[in-house]
Amino acid sequence: MSDTYEPFMAKVAELADIGHAEGMLSWDQETYMPPKGAAMRARAQGTLAGLHHERLTAPELVGLVKDLKGQDLTGDAAVNVREVGRSQDRALKIPKELVVELSQTESLSHEAWIAAREKADFAHFQPWLEKILKLKKEVAERVGYEGTIYNALLDEYEPYTRAEDIEPVFAALKDKLVPLVEKIAATGKFPARGVLDQDFPVAEQEELGRQVLEDLGFDLEAGRLDVAVHPFCSGTSRDDVRLTTRYSADWLPGSLFGTIHEAGHGLYEQGLPEDAVATPAGGSVSLGIHESQSRLWENMVGRSRAFSTHYLPRLKALFPTQLQNVNLDEFYAAVNQVEPSLIRVEADEVTYNLHILLRFELERDLFEGRVEVKDLPSVWNERMQQYLGVCPPDDAQGVLQDVHWSFGLMGYFPTYTLGNLYGAQFFHQAQQELPDLEGQIGRGEFGGLKTWLNDKVHNRGSRLRASELVEEVTGEKLSADYFTNYLEAKFGALYNL
Ligand code: MG
Repeated sequence: MSDTYEPFMAKVAELADIGHAEGMLSWDQETYMPPKGAAMRARAQGTLAGLHHERLTAPELVGLVKDLKGQDLTGDAAVNVREVGRSQDRALKIPKELVVELSQTESLSHEAWIAAREKADFAHFQPWLEKILKLKKEVAERVGYEGTIYNALLDEYEPYTRAEDIEPVFAALKDKLVPLVEKIAATGKFPARGVLDQDFPVAEQEELGRQVLEDLGFDLEAGRLDVAVHPFCSGTSRDDVRLTTRYSADWLPGSLFGTIHEAGHGLYEQGLPEDAVATPAGGSVSLGIHESQSRLWENMVGRSRAFSTHYLPRLKALFPTQLQNVNLDEFYAAVNQVEPSLIRVEADEVTYNLHILLRFELERDLFEGRVEVKDLPSVWNERMQQYLGVCPPDDAQGVLQDVHWSFGLMGYFPTYTLGNLYGAQFFHQAQQELPDLEGQIGRGEFGGLKTWLNDKVHNRGSRLRASELVEEVTGEKLSADYFTNYLEAKFGALYNL
């Protein structure tokens, strides 16, 4: 190995440690920090972010990267130099003043969004969104891109993925989803009503969540479960993976499937390669691949008939009065209720991606100049009607519902749908290679699937790009077919279509 690689990796380790501290402070902010702690926390986070940027773009590290790029590196060394080079390049192209202006605008814009959403008043948020859009365009122009300007945004969350490549896949998905949603809506069946919307005491829900975490193989000696308003998984290392969930006393699926979802993210973090900790090669591939793990466990496992078979008796023991008269078919149908609705985060498996496709299209329209910010509410409502057959009564339940744009998270939404598609394609492959998978899930045995995912996905770190990983694991490029075939088979049977 070249004599510049070791000093390079020492710098990379420091960057990882600063990232670790930033991650811990954000986790604490979302879980235990008292409200009055916010101002000082923002200051400390700002200092750490500045320090990170300074170290990443320091002339010494720039020189080391330049030197190493000229060498013929292989394996993890090649990945580490490639990835540090990528973030360094991006950081060097964005002037500090722009970073500061964007960060201040995002913070004020977030406040404006909260007020606008409370009053269902888009006009209050509009000037802020216009400013964010302008700054994000400037960032994109400075960072540079091929094809659409949107690629510069997408690249931050789903590296090496281009809008032009996912567009046909998403179009194929939409063509199948819109008629499927219409057919299901026409049946007028709502099997969850009266079953899952009863009183479910939070203490028992917590007990259930912990049981499920242990069954799935999430290591609670290397992780935690806490409560947060917006559930997330935060991994500062594979040995310290923190999940959060939330409980509602009158809706069982929220915490149950929310916990399984975050456990899917957590199993990925805990399964990252042990021999590459705190290096880019040992990290996760992308948000889309991360989400594939959470959606696979939440939906393909958690919402399967086999899973209901195993857990319904245990649920009946925990909630005897609520579930005593509910049989397996009824429970399985209830946890898979499809209902076109206004709010993305409450959407079921079938309608969910239409919410995302709408946002992906709107973001591209904004950046490519086909839609102006002031027209967003009306375009949003038209498309909701077109895709889902529902129309928001006000902007709080429409264009103002998501936090993302107020924080400048643009180009982020498509990673949710990519996650569903990658997840379905991985799960289909797991079914081919693990013939008794359904039987195992029905007996509450999840080790086979977990080990398969550990070997095929988690333990690969980010040595392969997302498109390469899906090809290596499944032998094919990303396709919407696995997901749409899965949905049509499952919901065709559930709704007698
Ligand atoms: Mg997720």
